[in-house]
Amino acid sequence: MSRAVTGNEIQQTAAEPLLRATDIRQHFPIRRGFFKPNAYVKAVNKVSFDIMAGETFGLVGESGCGKSTLGRTLLRLIEPTDGACYFRGENIFEKTPDEFGKYRRELQMVFQDPYSSLNPKMRVGSILEEAMSIHGVGHRNERSDRVIELLETVGLSSEHFFRFPHELSGGQRQRINLARALSLTPKVVICDETVSALDVSIQAQVLNLMKRIRKEFDLSYLFISHDLGVVKYISDRIGVMYLGNLVEVATAKELFDAPKHPYTQALISALPKTNPRDEKQRIKLSGEVPSPLNPPSGCCFHTRCPHATDICRMVVPTSRTISNNHKVACHLYEDGV
Ligand code: SF4
Repeated sequence: MSRAVTGNEIQQTAAEPLLRATDIRQHFPIRRGFFKPNAYVKAVNKVSFDIMAGETFGLVGESGCGKSTLGRTLLRLIEPTDGACYFRGENIFEKTPDEFGKYRRELQMVFQDPYSSLNPKMRVGSILEEAMSIHGVGHRNERSDRVIELLETVGLSSEHFFRFPHELSGGQRQRINLARALSLTPKVVICDETVSALDVSIQAQVLNLMKRIRKEFDLSYLFISHDLGVVKYISDRIGVMYLGNLVEVATAKELFDAPKHPYTQALISALPKTNPRDEKQRIKLSGEVPSPLNPPSGCCFHTRCPHATDICRMVVPTSRTISNNHKVACHLYEDGV
């Protein structure tokens, strides 16, 4: 049965996705005293999107827009307020902790800080073996062989087996994090600002490695970053988030060639120009990002949008279809397909 599209939700694809997030909300209660009702920080608001097998879906937006919270919610590192997350057609939000454990192996996450996510007292070999041991993957000797294979896969060698994390560079540590995620042969890896803490030259190496690994392991990525250039480089499709809402989704090419949402246009206009003849002016947004504790009525972007009209202040824009692979939540557009 088809479902009405409401609010800012943006459904994407007709084929069966590997992972489908539907109307995900993550609201954190704040106690305001004994006699006052709780207030809520609305970190994620009814966000919907699909990730296809073998696809990299980029999620971009300013710091604090809710993209990392969304990533953590999908893996139930924070339990969702509402919504559903279908993996291979099963709603993993409805599973008991024991049932969810079976799916957890196939859904992995790589975090931003390559150092704090590794136990400083453990050697690299033990770190990589630990995840396999917890999930009962292989015998001890097999696991050691697998660790060596994984180290080679991520561009390291058996020489790194006995090293401690503090003996490695930032790029090497992030490679270890990737190897740890791969050790459980996942299908989806959520990468939360995975290269943000690395130098630009190391970022390129790790991104290229991730692209190669995706093909080799037939992986899908949800690639979360505030860096639009990095997201463009690695993603097939990109979702743009603003104040907990998904405001535009398109293929990477379409998003950069013809961005529709005024917020996306402003983000792209702020990228450094590679062609000196490119005369597009930077769009400067006025005002601050509103608090998710008290988001604006109507369109969440109306307080900063240069095109805002009365309807924007009152009515939440529904998702408009610009083309098969391009949707935008904005009153400026009509459905085009
Ligand atoms: Fe701007 Fe209105 Fe579109 Fe929101 S709905 S982005 S305020 S034009």
